[in-house]
Amino acid sequence: MQKVGFFRSIHVKFVLIYVLLILVSMQIIGLYFARELDQRLKENFTNSIVDRMNLVEFSVREEITKKRKDSDPTIEQNLENVLEEFTSDDIIEIRVINNKYRILATSSYENQTRVGQHSTNENVRKSITSEQIQDVIEIDPQSHNHVLALAKPIFDGNHEVIGSLYVEANIETVFKQIEEINGILAKGAAVSLAITIIVGIFIARTFTRPISDMRRQAQAMASGNFMRKVKVYGTDEMGQLAIAFNHLTNQLQESQSTTESERRKLASVLENMTDGVISTDRRGRVSLINDSALQMLDMTTDLVINRPIASILGIESEYSFEELIQMKESIPLDFSTEEQSYILRATISVTQRETGFVNGLIVVLHDNTEQEKIDMERREFVSNVSHELRTPLTTMRSYLDALAEGAWRNEEIAPNFLRVTQNETERMIRLVNDLLKLSRMDSREYELNEEWVEFNRFFNAVIERFEFSKSKNVQFTRNLYSSSLFVEIDTDKLTQVLDNIISNALKYSPDGGEVRFGVTVSGDYIKVMISDDGMGIPKSNVNRIFDRFYRADRARSRALGGTGLGLAIAKEMITAHKGDIWAQSEEGKGTTIFFTLPFEQQEDGEWD
Ligand code: ATP
Ligand code: MG
Repeated sequence: MQKVGFFRSIHVKFVLIYVLLILVSMQIIGLYFARELDQRLKENFTNSIVDRMNLVEFSVREEITKKRKDSDPTIEQNLENVLEEFTSDDIIEIRVINNKYRILATSSYENQTRVGQHSTNENVRKSITSEQIQDVIEIDPQSHNHVLALAKPIFDGNHEVIGSLYVEANIETVFKQIEEINGILAKGAAVSLAITIIVGIFIARTFTRPISDMRRQAQAMASGNFMRKVKVYGTDEMGQLAIAFNHLTNQLQESQSTTESERRKLASVLENMTDGVISTDRRGRVSLINDSALQMLDMTTDLVINRPIASILGIESEYSFEELIQMKESIPLDFSTEEQSYILRATISVTQRETGFVNGLIVVLHDNTEQEKIDMERREFVSNVSHELRTPLTTMRSYLDALAEGAWRNEEIAPNFLRVTQNETERMIRLVNDLLKLSRMDSREYELNEEWVEFNRFFNAVIERFEFSKSKNVQFTRNLYSSSLFVEIDTDKLTQVLDNIISNALKYSPDGGEVRFGVTVSGDYIKVMISDDGMGIPKSNVNRIFDRFYRADRARSRALGGTGLGLAIAKEMITAHKGDIWAQSEEGKGTTIFFTLPFEQQEDGEWD
């Protein structure tokens, strides 16, 4: 935060205002006081001089108005005597001037020569003409002292002006006094100002300290620290403010921690969701994306944030942002490659304010690959089943048509045709039975009727059955396990498995071929293998032979009477026994089918 400049701080402002106020009021008081004092002192001084002048005036009037004889001393001499009596320290000179402006006498020794001369003094003239006392303060050019010059008219008994009494008094002491008092006043002002400044600083601090405390607190709060508290210095308005501020801090901390915990909750929900979630701002730019969504789209956060949602989802050519806002149904996003199918489903919802203003979009991505796969498999299955049923049915219909049209009369053709329809019916029954078996296994409606059997013996019995009934010239080679292998199996089910594998081997073996049977033990499993040197299966399709209805060579396989369900059923059954089944094959060279069954190694002789 910006630092407050020295002269802008409340602290300094406060002290300045305080000092200025004191200064102004002191100045006004001082000015008024000094002026009053000045006036009073001068007035007093003037009055004391005037009082004495009144006394002199009386004697002087006596002397001027007195009837003189020739033997009497001259008026000048008499006046000189009178003036001598009245001289004192503060009176510099007293002059007596008659109404013709002639100086009759002076108390000053140096100015005796002026006696009998005309007075040029302006005040003296004024006092005679105006018949009023004249006073003026002048500065003596020689001593630079202040001098009070007073000119007072002298009246006779008839109130006629007969002259003027002029006094020059030394008023310097009064000025000195005033100066001294002013000095004392100035000193007092300076001291009180200094005290004011110090007190002002302290008082200002009581205001500014809580304020700067709160400022620091606000700064700390902005950086997420709510532990600080403002110190409450008192119960005044500042104290109340501090208390309110601390309360605010608590409230803020509480709401911040609630927001934070909500945010964490939301973040953890988003992170632990298997569905992908993307949110955008009101322009459709990605503002938030969870890990699942990143994984689904195979992107990183940097690549996604702030980019348009439509381009992230790869649908910018089909939909604009406005269209996405209006979107009601979810959108399928097909990211499938040739090797792998990968289909996502995007459900879009709009976040709006109460006013209807669109704040952004929330897009939820769901991996729909499995669902789509299941849907596809189901469609394929239905089409397969209908196809498998239609073929024998069309065959039967054409034969039955022929019979109905008269072929039944032909004793040679009729039994043949009937045998064909019989075969096709058999085939359909087999197909429907196989489908029933699979459906029962899918719905886990079956139970395994397990019993302990010695596997070599059991396997051999199945092989022997084939050996006796085989129609082809095929050599059987047994490579069974040297000692007894006791396993817990459902013999009916495992017979079906072996039947199918062996019949396949025979079916796809050439005349004069060889079918080998082997049993080995590896760890907790016995491994059974049945291999032939027949036509084999193309490499890319080896694993698909366990799929329902899969046949490597449809035409041939059907000609051989297969439905393509045998190995699918075998796989279900082996899986139900907690075993595994797989194939190895080389086209033109032969095929080996392997399967395993769980096996517990027993102590020798326990089963004897
Ligand atoms: P079904 O067994 O229902 O009568 P099927 O034998 O055609 O019919 P599966 O046993 O499931 O069906 O076999 C699936 C496909 O795998 C066969 O159609 C065949 O193409 C191929 N196949 C299975 N075993 C062999 C084998 N030993 N040699 C060559 N191809 C095989
Ligand atoms: Mg088969």
